Amino acid sequence: MNKEEFADNHFIRSIIEEDLNNQKYQQIITRFPPEPNGYLHVGHAKSICLNFGLAHIYDGKCNLRFDDTNPEKESDEYVRSIKEDVKWLGFQWAEERYASDYFEQLYQYAESLIQKGLAYVDELSADEIREMRGTLTQAGTDSPYRNRPNDESLDLFRRMRAGEFADGSKTLRLKIDMSAGNLNMRDPVIYRIRRAHHHRTGDKWCIYPMYDYTHCLSDAIEHITHSICTLEFEAHRPLYDWVVQHVDAPSEPHQYEFSRLELLYSITSKRKLNQLVQQQHVSGWDDPRMPTISGMRRRGYTPAGLRLFAKRVGISKSENVVDMDVLEGAIREDLSNNAPRLMAVLNPIKVEITNFDATRIEGKTAPYHPEKPEYGERELKLSQTIYIERDDFAIEPPKGWKRLIVGGEVRLRHSYVMKCDEVVCDNSGSVLSLKCSIDYDTLGKNPEDRKVKGVIHWLPTDDAIQANIRLYDRLFTEPRPDAVRSKDGEYVDFTKFLNPNSIQTIKAWIEPIAKTLPPESHWQFERLGYFVTDRFDHTPDKPIFNRTVTLRDTWQKK
Ligand code: ATP
Ligand code: MG
Repeated sequence: MNKEEFADNHFIRSIIEEDLNNQKYQQIITRFPPEPNGYLHVGHAKSICLNFGLAHIYDGKCNLRFDDTNPEKESDEYVRSIKEDVKWLGFQWAEERYASDYFEQLYQYAESLIQKGLAYVDELSADEIREMRGTLTQAGTDSPYRNRPNDESLDLFRRMRAGEFADGSKTLRLKIDMSAGNLNMRDPVIYRIRRAHHHRTGDKWCIYPMYDYTHCLSDAIEHITHSICTLEFEAHRPLYDWVVQHVDAPSEPHQYEFSRLELLYSITSKRKLNQLVQQQHVSGWDDPRMPTISGMRRRGYTPAGLRLFAKRVGISKSENVVDMDVLEGAIREDLSNNAPRLMAVLNPIKVEITNFDATRIEGKTAPYHPEKPEYGERELKLSQTIYIERDDFAIEPPKGWKRLIVGGEVRLRHSYVMKCDEVVCDNSGSVLSLKCSIDYDTLGKNPEDRKVKGVIHWLPTDDAIQANIRLYDRLFTEPRPDAVRSKDGEYVDFTKFLNPNSIQTIKAWIEPIAKTLPPESHWQFERLGYFVTDRFDHTPDKPIFNRTVTLRDTWQKK
């Protein structure tokens, strides 16, 4: 991977460069810290490219850390998928870590905070804690348990761990400041009692540490130098710093925030994506319409295309709402450079070549990619009948039409110039087939006496094979499906805005090479778009292609 592949000139790079120049660190260490409660999505791809990219640019390290502190929602399946997605994007972590590996250490730090008089066991309910927290304009109220002796808190905390108390009956809270302007500093809860089976620690623990306490200390334990997260954690930074400073942590990491990616006509929240899966609006997390990394992979998006997208959206603190065409543009650019070409006819009309003479017809070799001779070439040869695209013929052409009409000519891609002499229709007037003739003098050269403007793709009916093609459209009909409010101000359920026509399956004709392809082969179907053989359902006997993206931006005009 090239260092230029990553977003440049952003504020986090300036901070890192300054830290390295000042010898604050010899080497930077970052981490990508997903919670394994769902599959990764396009927003995570931005964070992955940032964290792994920085480590790559500055010869540092990036850990993959699972922030697994909510046992009810987490699973090994999610851990597996996350590892697979990060690797597929092209990154390798220095170390694979789990916040749950630090539970014992975190517990010891908590005891030390109690002993220093900086934490106490509270017996208020969650509701009471919330009520007494105060508001932005009003200070909170001290819990009646706030000033209990340290020894008493220590004894209760040990008994919490030992399982003596019911779920939710006690918490451990930091003793900071109930009148702090920043609500996060008003004695936040750092441990709760929860008898839940954990995907890694099993039933060993019945108390679990909270995110704000766990995250900063996990960073400190791993000697993370730059802990990068999204802007909603900005107001948590004082707490992050407080915790790191008040325990005897092995290092002092710092948190930096950037704005999260929001993709229009899409959703970037694992919880909401999970809802789509659970309610079966999609076939699974890796449905090709999903903005998950595994969905985009199955759709035919490429790692290099996604990295290019991440570079283009950039890193900053200002709003990062991005149009789908930025994503599709990056994918298209990578595929245009790298995907071989073939011809396919999605909606055929049969054409009979009336002056066909097998002894005179010559084949022509055509490269699989115009700029990559190493991809090889194949011979394309007319047969007596061929398929062309229904859209490439018109009885009554609109203005500016360059494709086929009765009495008109087009160039068959990589072959002869062909003239349409007659159209055969059924009783209702729809086109059944065409009768055409070719000009034998036009293989590889233009006719001398006239200009033929249109070029269309085609297939010989002799050796074209059938394939199933899945045509995808956007999943939602609203640009911000999860931000629409009803008259009374409530959020409307975003599943109301699912596009009922987001998938269409058709049968098409395609070059015979389709019979030899492994899953996940990326191709350009000339004049139509980029397609990929389905990662799971495609077999050489029964080719199945997913349309990744059309050749040009079709979003603007919609
Ligand atoms: P979700 O709401 O989808 O669960 P999250 O932020 O809770 O998102 P985590 O698994 O905690 O998901 O995120 C792992 C990392 O990815 C975090 O550092 C988070 O800030 C980052 N991240 C998540 N969503 C986005 C996004 N839309 N844009 C950029 N970074 C993101
Ligand atoms: Mg989360």
